[in-house]
Amino acid sequence: MSGTIFTKIINREIPADIVFEDDISLAFRDINPQAPVHLLIIPKKEIATINDVEEGDRELVGHLYWVAARLAKEMGFDDDGYRVVMNCGENAGQTVFHIHLHLLAGKPLGWPPYTDRMKQG
Ligand code: AMP
Repeated sequence: MSGTIFTKIINREIPADIVFEDDISLAFRDINPQAPVHLLIIPKKEIATINDVEEGDRELVGHLYWVAARLAKEMGFDDDGYRVVMNCGENAGQTVFHIHLHLLAGKPLGWPPYTDRMKQG
């Protein structure tokens, strides 16, 4: 895999508002926020989509959720609630092919994502 824009963020080749980093993951603010708080949590390992997650990546993927919970606590919205979601492929609208958790918080969030209007289309 040649690397996406997220690899450039990991390597500090382009700027990002980084809120957390450890040996295996990085979290930064989404450039086009869809909620008052919108963070992206990524592994440093390049994995294109959920379909490419291998057995050896199980701990890594779990780690991303641990980072989400840690940031929710640190930023103080753990009790209010938040959403963690990972898009996979075209129908989910994935645009960057380096897996990432979206962490959305700060106000009540709409659900479900598949609305009646979409069902008619
Ligand atoms: P997805 O549609 O699930 O692939 O989400 C990709 C996300 O990456 C979108 O929410 C974009 O706004 C976000 N994004 C793309 N480029 C950047 C960037 N340079 N810095 C921060 N977020 C970005």
